[in-house]
Amino acid sequence: SSRFAVVEQGPPIEVFQLNKLFTDDTNKNKVNLGVGAYRDETGKPWVLPVVQKMEKLMAADETLLHEYLPVLGLEQFSNLSVSMLLGEDSSAISEGKTFGIQVLSGTGGLRIGAEFLNKHLKYTTFYYSNPTWENHHLVFVNSGFTQPRVYRYWNPKTRAIDFDGMIEDLKNAPENSVILLHACAHNPTGIDPTHEQWIKIADVMEERKLFPFFDSAYQGFASGDLDSDAWAVRYFVKRGFELVCAQSYAKNFGLYNERVGNLSVVVNDPKLIPAMKSQLTWVVRGMYSNPPAHGARVVANVLADKKLFDEWRDHIKMMSSRVMQMRDALRAELIKLGTPGNWDHIVKQIGLFSYTGLTSKQCEHLIQEHHIYLLKSGRINICGLNPSNVEYVARAMHDAITK
Ligand code: PMP
Repeated sequence: SSRFAVVEQGPPIEVFQLNKLFTDDTNKNKVNLGVGAYRDETGKPWVLPVVQKMEKLMAADETLLHEYLPVLGLEQFSNLSVSMLLGEDSSAISEGKTFGIQVLSGTGGLRIGAEFLNKHLKYTTFYYSNPTWENHHLVFVNSGFTQPRVYRYWNPKTRAIDFDGMIEDLKNAPENSVILLHACAHNPTGIDPTHEQWIKIADVMEERKLFPFFDSAYQGFASGDLDSDAWAVRYFVKRGFELVCAQSYAKNFGLYNERVGNLSVVVNDPKLIPAMKSQLTWVVRGMYSNPPAHGARVVANVLADKKLFDEWRDHIKMMSSRVMQMRDALRAELIKLGTPGNWDHIVKQIGLFSYTGLTSKQCEHLIQEHHIYLLKSGRINICGLNPSNVEYVARAMHDAITK
């Protein structure tokens, strides 16, 4: 007998289970459209050349030690991250109303930010978009939020944003609800509010006294431009909102497994920052004590050097334009095949993902019959497409839809 006999098998994590099925599949035509990671035009993961260059420099640097970082991480990394988010000319920064802390990638930023808001501001209600990244719910509930709610976001009929529904749900949210907003490149739908819609969202949130928690996991991937992709966050800051934002460098630096992230905070009164930092220190201390250094050093060294920064910006442009080309290619193939339905949404959507509108049965068919792996919501990672497999994928989608 064992005391552990009480432990029941938990459900699998869909996206990682899908990865395993893909890896184990021996079919030569297999395609992975599941996990949200960049793939180059030959289907391979890509280490950004600027990252490789920096890692070589760091490997040769004998002054780098493996001593603990401070609990809140590398300050230079956080300052650079805050400026990347808010813009170097941000008046919130020059007025001393901002700070950042290094966290364990985007997930860690959400987790620390949420626990801090729950413990110290006593917030208990949070709203996330329907649908959203599947982990938002769990992260907030584990952080102490007891009232999970959704706001409408996707209209399956129009394959576009359900903006009226979203606004109505926000209008009905109780004061001090935390509203989780995707800063850009909404996962999984690939649809962001327009500037006019963001302005309306800000109006309602101000009026209803709601708290914005931005999730910025794809800065640079929506438009290819870091500044355009930060528009919504910068607009909220200009409007005078206090807010937090979890930033991930997993995608835009290709540093998935290094867990490099920043939690940016904007507060109206700079005098409050020392107390806030001290309490964030205790949240981190009780969770993982301090963050790892390697990835944050890579990012900080690149962001701090004008030449390397420009090189990195070119990498982002390259990645995002490859995604856009593959959107065009997939749509063109489907049109060529005469696949029933309108496929404009594939090119209108932005970021890594397309919410195809395929039913879960059609997705199952793609996996079972065609060795094409995708989430049962119909979300596909566009980077899984390349010139050698896009026609195969389109034919398989055609088959799944018309069979
Ligand atoms: N938020 C969103 C919307 C995401 O898509 C992801 C990654 N899939 C994350 C946060 C967190 O990613 P990470 O912890 O790897 O930075």
